[in-house]
Amino acid sequence: MESIWEKTCDSKKRPALKGHIQTDAVVIGAGMAGILTAWHLEQAGVRTVVLEADRIGGGQTRNTTAKITSQHGMFCHAFIEKKGEETARKYVQANQAAVEEYKKIVREEGIDCDLAESDSYVYSMDSEKLKQEAKAARRLGIDASLEEKIELPVFCAGALRFPGQAQFHPLKFVRALADGLTVYEDTQVRAVENNLVTTACGSVGADKIVFAVHFPFLNYPGMYFARMHQERSYVIALENAGKLHGMYIGDGRDALSFRQYDACILLGGQAHRTGENREGGCYDRLKEAAKQMYPESRVTACWSAQDCITSDGIPFIGNYAADQPDWFVATGFQKWGMSSAMVSAMLLKDRICGVKNPYAEIFDPSRFSAEEIPQLMKEGGKAVKGLTKRFFHLPSETAASLKRGHGAVVEAPQGKAGVYKTEEGRICQVDIVCPHMGCELSWNPQERSWDCPCHGSRFDFEGNLIDGPAQEGIYAGWSISEKQK
Ligand SMILES: Cc1cc2nc3c(=O)[nH]c(=O)nc-3n(C[C@H](O)[C@H](O)[C@H](O)COP(=O)(O)OP(=O)(O)OC[C@H]3O[C@@H](n4cnc5c(N)ncnc54)[C@H](O)[C@@H]3O)c2cc1C
Repeated sequence: MESIWEKTCDSKKRPALKGHIQTDAVVIGAGMAGILTAWHLEQAGVRTVVLEADRIGGGQTRNTTAKITSQHGMFCHAFIEKKGEETARKYVQANQAAVEEYKKIVREEGIDCDLAESDSYVYSMDSEKLKQEAKAARRLGIDASLEEKIELPVFCAGALRFPGQAQFHPLKFVRALADGLTVYEDTQVRAVENNLVTTACGSVGADKIVFAVHFPFLNYPGMYFARMHQERSYVIALENAGKLHGMYIGDGRDALSFRQYDACILLGGQAHRTGENREGGCYDRLKEAAKQMYPESRVTACWSAQDCITSDGIPFIGNYAADQPDWFVATGFQKWGMSSAMVSAMLLKDRICGVKNPYAEIFDPSRFSAEEIPQLMKEGGKAVKGLTKRFFHLPSETAASLKRGHGAVVEAPQGKAGVYKTEEGRICQVDIVCPHMGCELSWNPQERSWDCPCHGSRFDFEGNLIDGPAQEGIYAGWSISEKQK
């Protein structure tokens, strides 16, 4: 399922890395975070090479909704309560500076990426909560205002507006910005040792190494797998649904997200932890909501993505681990990765160039907060559940009884396996042990993929890797047609 961004942005393929290169910095990953970081480093005179396993923007960035905002949901009051006013103020300032930096880059570089200034709104049924949030936002220095009426066809008590935010076409932006950079595509990094990065056909020696890979694939040092999980969300593009002027997000877990792109309203929602599917079909539910809100509308595209959620709600941006002073990381963007990617780029550029950044401490990955303890136990519990499931889960169906277009865990002659029967009747069998840390994968009927409930890696029904932290596919045992069986 292609996003509206992929449908409307092509780019020439870059060659893969062959041989050895020596440079000042290497950035692993050419998503929004990687390209922005490389660009800022180059601007500061740091010779930088980017290594990308897929295409530029080919990870989660191609499937975002691309609102650029410092309004990260209904967060100001809760953030002050949790972290104190000073930290909350710096968090907002860092993200608002990121919004302004996007506008500046687009203006100064003349990038054609449909950037439009737009106000951002969080809407809610709870008027008291909105008032509380408005007060908190103003305490943090935001010129926020309460609006009783909004342009959405939803029931709510009103919305809180952050002025001067923005929205754009993420692939047009990231690919244009990458034009002047040295980027190798189809170049998966296989190993990183001290100051050497190794790929299938080459290597890069660098003074500084930045991991901008969405979810860090090295488990040690850093142990990011124990401090984050991944969450998916779904988006549909609606034609003939009218025109929105603002960007919107609802308050609460089942809230919807809205923005305009070209002639379409992009409607998002149905969040769930990767590997834990929701009953009833996420796209179907979004389509049902769309039918009620915009009865004349037509769905022109559907897509989904996932993002990393940290224990304390703040991204990890900074030094990767204490015993690797030249490694840096940008991850844990909590579905606010446009502004967070820019915060990462500005912060990591300063760090690598030896400039003090006022926001560095808030995002420092070495921070440890008491909130992490229950979360660590929960994550550990999930991982153990994933592992035990591998040994004790009983197959509910056999390959023969599977309907076309369905997948299931079955008892195959070689042992337990994941099986999917294609619409044509071809049976694809895969190993259901995640190569990242050994959890049992779950079948995702929405997207016909095998998803890891522990850390969020994903594989297509033939076993090819879709999303990390895993870095390889799952062994595809056999693939036969129904007739051959
Ligand atoms: C449905 C949804 C909607 C969203 N909407 C918004 C929004 O409106 N606004 C907002 O601010 N945020 C939004 N987000 C979040 C945002 O899309 C992400 O946080 C952001 O795109 C992440 O960018 P990234 O560069 O960190 O990761 P990616 O774009 O995934 O880039 C990482 C890159 O690293 C590469 N890579 C991985 N491993 C290796 C390796 N070993 N070697 C080489 N390369 C490697 C991958 O191929 C990938 O291209 C949304 C998220 C979701 C799920």
